[in-house]
Formats: sequence, structure tokens, C-alpha cells
Amino acid sequence: MTSKTLDSFLNDSILDLKERGLYNEIDAVEGANGPVIQIQGKELINLSSNNYLGLATDERLKHVAKAAIESHGVGAGAVRTINGTLDLHITLEDKIAAFKGTEAAISYQSGFNCNMAAISAVMDKHDAILSDSLNHASIIDGCRLSKAKIIRFEHSDMDDLRTKAKEAVASGQYNKIMVITDGVFSMDGDIAKLPEIVEIAEAYDLITYVDDAHGSGVTGKGAGTVKHFGLQDKIDFQMGTLSKAIGVVGGYVAGKANLINWLKVSSRPFLFSTAVSPADAIASTKAIELLMESTELNERLWENGNYLKEGLKKIGFSIGNSETPITPCIIGDEKAAQQFSKRLFEEGVYAKSIVFPTVPRGTGRVRNMPTAAHTKEMLDESIAVYEKVGKEMGLI
Ligand code: PMP
Repeated sequence: MTSKTLDSFLNDSILDLKERGLYNEIDAVEGANGPVIQIQGKELINLSSNNYLGLATDERLKHVAKAAIESHGVGAGAVRTINGTLDLHITLEDKIAAFKGTEAAISYQSGFNCNMAAISAVMDKHDAILSDSLNHASIIDGCRLSKAKIIRFEHSDMDDLRTKAKEAVASGQYNKIMVITDGVFSMDGDIAKLPEIVEIAEAYDLITYVDDAHGSGVTGKGAGTVKHFGLQDKIDFQMGTLSKAIGVVGGYVAGKANLINWLKVSSRPFLFSTAVSPADAIASTKAIELLMESTELNERLWENGNYLKEGLKKIGFSIGNSETPITPCIIGDEKAAQQFSKRLFEEGVYAKSIVFPTVPRGTGRVRNMPTAAHTKEMLDESIAVYEKVGKEMGLI
């Protein structure tokens, strides 16, 4: 038997994805990613970004980023341990620690590689990780990279977590056991049950890891889900991203000084990959400063989130069990969800459909991410379009 050529592998794989309706055509946004965007020359109300507070285009962030390019240039120059640690990276990490209420913090180039870095720096093949079944792909990949035994528990099912923690401890097979969860689940907008998770962790001596990519800037008046529950002293890893509410790029872990020191000497993306640029570092620092000074943007985000949710519910859509501004509109049938999103686009609203395997089969949806930067008029217009298209397709 001859081996497959690269071309035949690629052609077959792409065809397979297309036949299963899973091939994603990527839209190019022409210009800035704000509450209104342009795609293929068409202006659209943008309900698809993670730019929760509108900071990606904030003038104050742009101003400090431009100044940092003048003072520090456009790149960090080397990996951090060689000579790529700039004063701006240290300031950013001090600011993250203050924001999260921890002794220290470490920053990475993205949230994705932060999870790959931090999980595998602490867990190994003699360990086990209890992982929520709806955890993000970067958590799953970080767990796989660590070679620890991955034990999935049913989404937010605390009885299942308790049973599996008990079994893992009783087996005597593992050196260390970690429980890991998203703080806010991005497909449904529900919040992890951190108080119960902490209680179980204390009962079974589990290491606790919360990926709060969608909670930072959103829950806890902006400080995140751990702060929302007042559990800063109980969560070992407060992981987050600088690319969503913070509006820039990068990832981080905040925690005790000894944990952060360990990550600085052992986590491979920190040791072998160049850090974010000076402009990125200072823009993130500024964004966090703004969040610590005022909750105004956070309040506007929640006001807009609640307004959109109420509006969509009123016209007859099911918005699932979201507890945050993330507003899924559950359609059910995958093809109908995709068609719905397409019609919204034609009518001037950009809201992407999300289908299996990202969400369970039969729960196809269009996910809406209102932000602090949307005006009431934009939300009213979106709700009117939802009503028009929903009625036209017989969904409401
Ligand atoms: N964790 C979660 C829960 C996420 O949703 C994302 C982004 N989709 C990431 C990590 C990765 O963050 P980043 O985009 O900064 O790599």
C-alpha cells in the first residue's frame, strides 16, 4: 500500500468537512472590530465579538500603545528569559496581580498558549485532572499535553465531580489531582459553581484552576468570576486572557508567588517564545487600570446584555440559561441555525451560528455578544431584525 500524498490528504479532509457542514468560511472584517463592522462592503451590527467592553478600539488604549511604540519599538526582541523581559511586561504582571487580588502573575502570548503552558508545567503522567465536559479546547489541549489522566465530569454537575474526585483519591493512583473549569462558559453564558467546586477541592485536596477568559471584565464587577464569589484565596490558578474584555492580546495566570515563580522557570511557552509587543503590554495595563478605576463600562455591558436578552425573550426566542451578557438564541436544528445567521447577515446583523460539535447535537444556536459599546438603537435594530427573520422562518 502506498502512503497518501499531502494533497490527497488535504483534499479528502476538506471535502469531508464540507459534506458534514463543518467547513468554516472565514469572513474578513474591513477595518476596526467595533460594535458596527464592515464585511464585503456591507455595514453590520456586530454581535459576534468578545470585545465585551469596547476597549479594542478605545482611544486611551490607542494613545498609550502609540507612545510605547515610540519609546520601546514594535517587538520585545527575544524570549523573556534571554533579554525580552521589558519593564512594560513587569508592570503588566503587577497590574494583573493587583486586579485579581493575588501575590503575583505571569503573562503569556495568548490565552490558548497560557493553558498549554500552565497546566503542563504542574501536572504530569502520575497525576489526574477532573475537567468539566464543556471546558474550552485550550484547556483540553493543555490537559492532553500534560499526559495526566483526564477524568471528565458532567457539565457543572457537582454530584458527578464529587463522586469522581472521591474515586480518584481512593484509587491511590495519582500524585496530584486538579479540578479545572471555565469561569463563564462561552457557548451558554452560564457561570461555574465555584463555591461548590472549592468545597469539593478542600475535601479531597484538589488543585484548583479557573479559566476566566469570559469572566474577566464581565463578572465580579469586572474583576472576574473568582472575585464574584470572593474566592481569591481558594483558587490556585486564576487564568485569563487579555484578548476579550481587555481588548488586546495575551494570556495570564494570577496566583501565589511560588506558583508564578515555578511557571517562570518551567513553562515552555514562557521559556521558548517571545512575549507580546510593548504596545500590547501597555495597552493591556491601561485597560486593567481603567477597569480598576471605574465600573462604568462593566455596568453598561450588563445593561446592554439584559436589554438584548429581554428583547429577544419578549419576541419569543429561547435564550437558554445564560447568567451573563452572552446571549445564545437556541434554534435547535443545525441547518436552521446556519440559515438564520445567514439571513441576519443579509438584514444587517452579524451573529454567528454555533452548531455540533462545538455545542451538543440538536442545540444549534446563534450566539449574541452584546458589548458596552453598543447603543440602545443598535440593539433595538437587532431585535427588530431577529423578529422579522424569526417570523419569516417560522421560528417564533
Ligand atoms: N479559554 C477560553 C475559555 C476561551 O474562550 C478562549 C478564547 N476563545 C481562550 C481560552 C483562548 O484565549 P486567546 O484567544 O487569548 O488565545
